[in-house]
Formats: sequence, C-alpha cells, structure tokens
Amino acid sequence: MTRETTDPASTPIPIPRELAAALSSARRVVALTGAGVSAESGVPTFRDALTGLWARFDPLELATPSAFARHPKLVWDWYAARREAVRAARPNAGHRALVEIERRTPSFLLATQNVDGLHARAGSRSLVELHGSLARVRCSREGRIVDRFDEPQDDEPPRCPHCGAFLRPDVVWFEEPLPADALARAEDGARRCDLMIVAGTSAEVYPAAALPRQAKAAGAMVVEVNPHETPLSAVVDIVLRQRSGIALPALVAAAWPGHGGDPAPGVSSARAAGGGAK
Ligand SMILES: [Zn+2]
Repeated sequence: MTRETTDPASTPIPIPRELAAALSSARRVVALTGAGVSAESGVPTFRDALTGLWARFDPLELATPSAFARHPKLVWDWYAARREAVRAARPNAGHRALVEIERRTPSFLLATQNVDGLHARAGSRSLVELHGSLARVRCSREGRIVDRFDEPQDDEPPRCPHCGAFLRPDVVWFEEPLPADALARAEDGARRCDLMIVAGTSAEVYPAAALPRQAKAAGAMVVEVNPHETPLSAVVDIVLRQRSGIALPALVAAAWPGHGGDPAPGVSSARAAGGGAK
C-alpha cells in the first residue's frame, strides 16, 4: 500500500493545544477503534471482503449462528479466507501510535470493534476486542478457546479436541450479543476516563456506539479521529478530520514532543512545528 505517501490528505493537521495538553496530563485514557483503522492497513471491511468466490453471498448467510448451523463448512471456509487475508496485513502508524499512548499513560484501555488482531500484533496490551478476533477459534458448544486443531480434511469444520463439537471463529456474529465481560470493561473505562479517542468508526452500531456518549456524560473530553463526518461529530469536543494513521502519530508528537516514536511519513514537519527540542 502506498496510500500513506500518495494520499493528498496525508498532510498533517494541526493538533489543538488543549488536546495535546489533555492527553499528556490525562490519568485515564480510553480509545475506541473501528474499521477505518483496519482499512488503512488494507484490511477490507466485512462487506468489501465479499468479492470473488464470495461475491454471491449475503453477510447473513455467513455470519450468523443459524448460518453456521445450516452450512458449517461454508462459514468455516469464509473465516479461514478472511484470516488468511488479515495475516498478510500489517499494523499501521495509527496502531503504533495507540501503543505509544498506552506506554505513556498511567491507565489506558483500547476497545476495538475490529476482529483482525492488528492492535495485539502492534503491541497493545490493555485491549478489549468487543467483536472477538479472527485469530482465535473456540468450541461451538463449550465456548472454550482451542489453540490447536487440524485443518478440516472433508466437508466439515475441525472438531473440538475435548468434546467433539465443531470449532467456530471466536468472533461476534449478527444476532449474537457482545461478550459481557468485554463490554463491561469498556463501559467501566468510558465512565472513568479523562479523555476518549474515537478513531475510524462511525460509532453507529450499539452498544459500542454508546461508549463515547457515556464518556462525555461522565465529564471526559472526547476527540473524534475520522476523515469523514459521523453522527458522533456533533457530540464530541474535538474533531480531527484526518485518517488515524496520520492524526494519531501527530497527536502523540504534540502531546510528548521529542518522544522519538514512530511517526507516519509526512508527519516530521508537524513534529518540528508542534514540538520543538527542549
Ligand atoms: Zn468442546
């Protein structure tokens, strides 16, 4: 991908002084990320992934419990294909900037709606995967995570080594609730944070969409990082109308001048202008 260097929108945007100060002094920071952050690593959205062999399918035929009950091998193969596509993708400068913020903040929580595992691969540790992860597989009967399994040889998904039921991806399907413990952690973080960063999500899908509003209601500063206007734009305190791979490194550089981190291409001038050597 060469978008980071050829995109005319890659020019760094100025980071408001109050935002940089709020981040560097915050004790509790929560970040909420969505598909936009993944798209910058070339990970297609769920619908955009329905190409080629998969173009004739409707998401409801591939990502619901009833679809898995009817066509378990078809659903398994779809997720195997997506897992393979994600394996080829790499974390981008936005992922890395969130790792940097975690390192520099007393209490940090990253809640993501993405299932590609790129935040974990980038090095984020305090991480809640609200919709699960393509990288994990679990027993469809017991729910337990299974680390090792043989790839299917016939027209069935692999089976749980403990109970023999089919294995399934550890992701949240349509018609399924979010994992209660993950959602509770995210909501607790939202209610107690000083600053929330919402990046690459249109924040329209509940219950995750409620998190920025909960943070705002509890008195936190909320900043949106998104190249497009969203329903959240009118709610937040500050909008950075830019891709997260550009805006988040610029935000880190503005909050902690001279941190020597990992800015995206084109951000060096912003660091010079916004930072300044001691
Ligand atoms: Zn089992």
